[in-house]
Amino acid sequence: MRRFIKALAAVMAASIAFPVVFASGVDVIADDNSYNVRQFVERLYRETLGREADEEGAADWTSRLVSGGSTGADVAFGFIFSDECRAQTADNSAFVQVLYRAMLGREADEAGLNSWTSFLNAGHPRSNVFAGFVNSPEFTGICAEYGITRGNRRYVDPNRPMVALTFDDGPGPRTAEIVSCLQSHGAAATFFVVGMNAERYTDTLARIRRAGCEIGNHTYDHTNLTRLSAADIQGEISTVNDIVRAATGMGTTVLRPPGGNHNETVDAVAGMPLIMWSIDTRDWATRSTQATINSVLGSVRDGDIILMHDIYSPTVDAALYLIPELQNRGYQLVTVSELAEYRGGAQSGCAYRSFRR
Ligand code: ZN
Repeated sequence: MRRFIKALAAVMAASIAFPVVFASGVDVIADDNSYNVRQFVERLYRETLGREADEEGAADWTSRLVSGGSTGADVAFGFIFSDECRAQTADNSAFVQVLYRAMLGREADEAGLNSWTSFLNAGHPRSNVFAGFVNSPEFTGICAEYGITRGNRRYVDPNRPMVALTFDDGPGPRTAEIVSCLQSHGAAATFFVVGMNAERYTDTLARIRRAGCEIGNHTYDHTNLTRLSAADIQGEISTVNDIVRAATGMGTTVLRPPGGNHNETVDAVAGMPLIMWSIDTRDWATRSTQATINSVLGSVRDGDIILMHDIYSPTVDAALYLIPELQNRGYQLVTVSELAEYRGGAQSGCAYRSFRR
């Protein structure tokens, strides 16, 4: 336990000293290592999902590692935070046991299991505990054994200010630029995608997820949900979930109803928290990089949810400026769900405009 607290502290120290802690630019892995890489992937199937690999999935994960597009940390995250693994780890002690098996290569001892479980029960996010395990000597050794670049995951300091950038209506042609910028600054954001665009940009969806960012649900065709029946609302939401799950192995966990329009029926059918905003940049109206930057920097404060649209080029330019600038001003850039996790949580069917301390 003490060692991992140290590991967590080390991750935190590293993220303060070197803002660029994300290492997805990886060494090229020689083709002749693909056998070992495949063994690493098959091991994750057993240790996180409790089953043998399916051919299609194993081939996909293996090629991401061999091409250098993903690190060992990225792939372990993909497995441990997949819908399939989440369903098997609803309680925190089951989650800790998976972490021990997958990341440390052994069963959890009783003391370790109890400490980590109570740490999580006290409200610490799973993603932070995962980041600590990535940094452990054991996982470093496992990656070395299979000839894989380990990489890092973000660590969020619960005691420092944080805000959530949110991008609606995409993905668009320049969304990947925002993702790269976030990744190279050790930052994250939430992308509320519409199904019509998600279908066209499945590679971008996968890229968003691999970068540790979040994908939210913004309906299939950007419809006003308050005008639909319960069954049609359900259809709008589940269609997007299916598209996102097919591309990334994981559905959406937060909903932003188009226009922020919702009623009792929408709330009842949503099946996830409804996320509004506290800063409306009105970027869709101004189409101005400078006006978008000003609207954020002029009023930003701890716990804000910031609304932008990644389908507009001036907004992309504003985001590329704002990401390092908000960090310079002391803000950690987190996903909506991370922000909620640190600030009291979010309930399914409830609407949130911000998450203040
Ligand atoms: Zn929208």
